[in-house]
Amino acid sequence: MKMREMQEGAIEQDETIAAISTPMGEGGIGIVRLSGRTAVKILIEIFRGTSGKPRKRFESHKVNFGHIVDEHGRKIDQVLATVMLSPLTYTREDVVEISCHGGGAVLKKVLARVLAAGARMADPGEFSKRAYLNGRIDLIQAEAIIDLVKSKSEKGWLTAFSQLDGKLSQALSELENGLIDILAQLEASIDFPEEEIEIINNNLLTEKMQKLKYTIEVITKSYVVGRVYREGVAVAIAGRPNVGKSSLMNALLNRERAIVTPHPGTTRDIIEETLHLEGIAVRIIDTAGIRSAQDPAEAEGINRAIAAAKDADIVLVLFDGSAEFLQEDEAVVSQMRSAGLGDTRIIPVINKSDLEQKIETSNIEELMKIASVNISAKSGAGINQLLKRINNEIDKMGEQYTEGPILTRERHQEKLMEIGRALTSAITAVNNNLSREYIAADLQEGKEALEELTGKVVDDSVIERIFNEFCIGK
Ligand code: GDP
Repeated sequence: MKMREMQEGAIEQDETIAAISTPMGEGGIGIVRLSGRTAVKILIEIFRGTSGKPRKRFESHKVNFGHIVDEHGRKIDQVLATVMLSPLTYTREDVVEISCHGGGAVLKKVLARVLAAGARMADPGEFSKRAYLNGRIDLIQAEAIIDLVKSKSEKGWLTAFSQLDGKLSQALSELENGLIDILAQLEASIDFPEEEIEIINNNLLTEKMQKLKYTIEVITKSYVVGRVYREGVAVAIAGRPNVGKSSLMNALLNRERAIVTPHPGTTRDIIEETLHLEGIAVRIIDTAGIRSAQDPAEAEGINRAIAAAKDADIVLVLFDGSAEFLQEDEAVVSQMRSAGLGDTRIIPVINKSDLEQKIETSNIEELMKIASVNISAKSGAGINQLLKRINNEIDKMGEQYTEGPILTRERHQEKLMEIGRALTSAITAVNNNLSREYIAADLQEGKEALEELTGKVVDDSVIERIFNEFCIGK
């Protein structure tokens, strides 16, 4: 395993990189960004100010109006060029941003000119990777940048931004200081065993480690919330054909995405749409009607429906209130049960409240051991109550979380648990009166896991994986 030890300060990369940093397509402006040692030299070569003459120097963090010209001095576009000199820049290297007119052809031409003048096309996420390699952000913040760029919901943005702002990094740095402090005292007592005064007694040692363990437990609990905020929640709609799944999906989304038909068994594909509930992205998944099928295409649809329900955070099991409780309804309930839904929350929903009701609500509630919601997908009655109920279930998912930094990724969760295990092992070692070398070794392991988490020391493949999630130009 190749491990990288991060250094303080800038470790400038050799090549100057460039990319179009704004999305392609027509837009008011588009930006070509450069980073690296020769970024300013390249700008000098391709930029002409209002006088038409090449500029010899640029002031840092100032905007310059002028033109980008081709190798024959012909104007390509009117631009604003911003020069930001190292180290107060996104990458900590010299950065140049050329704001052009937003349009695919213009931007490609300016980029081609920049590349011809000596820059290399940046890999996806390479600007952020340099920011990380140069020590401006840690790995946690790099991940936050990806999430921020991709965030589509209010909570997703909020979590990513607080992570980028350093809330989680700060908490982890306090944890690291705690570990270093204990390790230093342990090492002192190992190095000077004959010292008269005990440097740190066992009680104090255990107390300090317990405290760190508690901090880890608190942070770890936030993962449920972090995942929900970052990825949103998946809500699957299940039920036998014709109970109104597609209609409910439409009612929830308030638009016609799923095709509603009166023939049973027509929604064979899984349809997914996103709505936003209290700032959280809610992915609504309409599953095919679950029932036993002979038709292979339908059987496949049913398997996928069960799989979708299993993956979902919440399943709405839908019934037709205007019909009797059919064997097919019972089959849905028992299929859900035998699929083993684990932590998935279930809400029984009784549809078609606008029609005369034949179904026995109490029987369903008894069978499923949970309160149901009555709705009419057609008239919209009860839809708000259903949304409220979904929201309550989401709140319950994050019940244990109070406040503080939020973990958003499994990687964070795994590493923190590793540190927690190292602490538990160290505490046991103290209780068993094992030598201080053992305790120090456990804590050292914990410290290493923490360094991998923040990216201070990290496996190259982890870096690859994280930066591969970025888009070009970021
Ligand atoms: P799916 O097979 O479970 O997706 O069911 P659909 O959404 O295709 O609906 C089946 C039939 O029930 C259609 O004719 C819908 O118009 C009708 N339907 C759905 N919801 C309601 C409702 O709340 N009230 C009434 N009266 N009809 C409904």
